[in-house]
Amino acid sequence: MNADWAALTRQIKEASDIVAVVGSYLTLHPAGQTFKAVCPFHNDHKPSLDVDPRRQRYRCWACGKVGDAISFVQEYEKVDFVQARAILASRAGIAIEAGGGVSDRRHELIRAMKWADGQYQNCLTESSAGERARIYLGERKLTGPTVRKFGLGFAPGDGQFLCRLGQSQQISPDTLAEVGLIGERQNGEGWYDRFRDRVMFPIHDVRGQTVGFGGRILPNSPSADRSAKYYNSSETPIFSKSDLLFGLDFARSAAATAGCLAIVEGYTDVMMSHQHGIENVVATMGTALNHRHLQQITRYAPRVVLVFDADEGGTTGVDRALELFIRHDVHLTIAALPDSLDPCDWLSASGPEGFRKALDTAVDALEYKLNRLIEKESSGGVTGTIRIVDGILKIMAASPPSAGQAAKIREQLLVTRICQRMGLSESAVRDRLEELRRAGMLKDREEAAIERERDRQREREAGQGAGQSRSILPGPGTPEGDANRKTAGPAPMLERQLLEIILAEPALVAEAAREVTPEQMTHPGLRKLLECLYMLKGRNEPPELDALRVHIPHPALIARAMEMQEIGRTTGDRAKWLRTVLDGFHRRKVDEDKKQLRERLHFAGDDAQALDLLRQIQKRSGVADAVGQPPPPTSAAS
Ligand SMILES: [Zn+2]
Repeated sequence: MNADWAALTRQIKEASDIVAVVGSYLTLHPAGQTFKAVCPFHNDHKPSLDVDPRRQRYRCWACGKVGDAISFVQEYEKVDFVQARAILASRAGIAIEAGGGVSDRRHELIRAMKWADGQYQNCLTESSAGERARIYLGERKLTGPTVRKFGLGFAPGDGQFLCRLGQSQQISPDTLAEVGLIGERQNGEGWYDRFRDRVMFPIHDVRGQTVGFGGRILPNSPSADRSAKYYNSSETPIFSKSDLLFGLDFARSAAATAGCLAIVEGYTDVMMSHQHGIENVVATMGTALNHRHLQQITRYAPRVVLVFDADEGGTTGVDRALELFIRHDVHLTIAALPDSLDPCDWLSASGPEGFRKALDTAVDALEYKLNRLIEKESSGGVTGTIRIVDGILKIMAASPPSAGQAAKIREQLLVTRICQRMGLSESAVRDRLEELRRAGMLKDREEAAIERERDRQREREAGQGAGQSRSILPGPGTPEGDANRKTAGPAPMLERQLLEIILAEPALVAEAAREVTPEQMTHPGLRKLLECLYMLKGRNEPPELDALRVHIPHPALIARAMEMQEIGRTTGDRAKWLRTVLDGFHRRKVDEDKKQLRERLHFAGDDAQALDLLRQIQKRSGVADAVGQPPPPTSAAS
């Protein structure tokens, strides 16, 4: 990492506008000179995240996350600085040097997955062992192009397929075990394949990388009756079932075009839909829909169709989904399929028209819920009516106050519908809705407070676990920050001022390095920053903030450094100001020395020793006068 590396980082940052980058992950709403979005870093449905194109920064007012385009990708994709830089480079079409430092464990695991993916695919399409799987897929009416598009494969039944290939191609068994593809025998003698005699469905992340597999056992497998029909990859560092939607990498652009994303239950339902030209279809990985799914969905489509088999009576699933969707201000509609058919059977029996129509005419989920409630409670008299009205209004009350215009129109339509169906006045229904909404908001606030406290607790624990000081950052709300503010002591302020200047102007690092050592910094976080800048300088690398980010994997400290850099950039004559700050450090050093000498004087054994100490103290007083007064506290308020 040299000057070229730093120049390339600058080029990548210039090509990565914060609005475009954050906007590719989240839906942004213009708000004056900035943009607002629902923050992906804490559980929320209000638009707390501010994206500022002038400063090229984002900031969440609820959870406090701040940073630039690279930090956003780091936090969102859970990658380090170097990887985030590489992602933005490829997004901007900037070629980066081979390797580029991107060689950590996560990439190794992704590479292993890609390799295994290729082996399984080969086995399905090329080998005689794959014959039975090819016949099975043919029976399921999945065509060759579909099988290739989704990258299906086959894992043979002998339990040694991947282990053997891995050994011959020098893929470490530990890596294959870490991604959940092989396991170690209990007697410790070798390894076995976890997927056996199964058709392999690779599960991609939204960028199309294979991160896990779903395996469907062949129906005529000797072990079919004692094994689970479907087996998914276990949770690994790169695979989390509850974060993923099967087929989203293929569905997202069609969903954005159609303004709607359909969610079905099985892999083959997704594949059959795509085969019939209906491409805005995904499936969950057998887990209930959750807020992480919703955060992904809202990036691509404002409306979701939940497709399920009407005869399965999955209405509790609909209830749960409704509450979730309404909180995220995503319009949920329901398509219930006829005759106990799943989409796969339906599509292969009667083509795309019926399924397409079912998606287009999907019923608003609240309306669906209302119909179900009326079916169930209509004979219940007055209490039945109350149960129906409250049942539906309680869900409506959970919608955020900031919900969009479309949601408000839907709400009005539904209120009218309830009045008509139940013979109630609109004001009665509206009053009850507002009452429930107020109660809900109160509860929300309480929950948010509990959540914040939990976050703080986690941060405290994380800090202690890493063997760091309890608070690496001075800041409001932390014990150390409070202490700093109360004393407003020159020590931490001086340290901040030093970093403000040299972060804003890396050319001044050399001068600082000649006069202040990292040990003179009392604040552990700021000491770390200074140490790293000096280290870069020592290696003849540009001692600048973006270069620090490779060495300091601590987003909060980097965010703090960015803030200090901004303050430094507003300072006029930085070289002159640095001189004043360095004098401040000298003075502080002298004061400390004097204090120590006085302590020693207090315990001096004889007159000669005491006299010598007194002379030393006097000498230091002279030095202190020569370096002048400590700098005025201009940026102390920051
Ligand atoms: Zn946040």
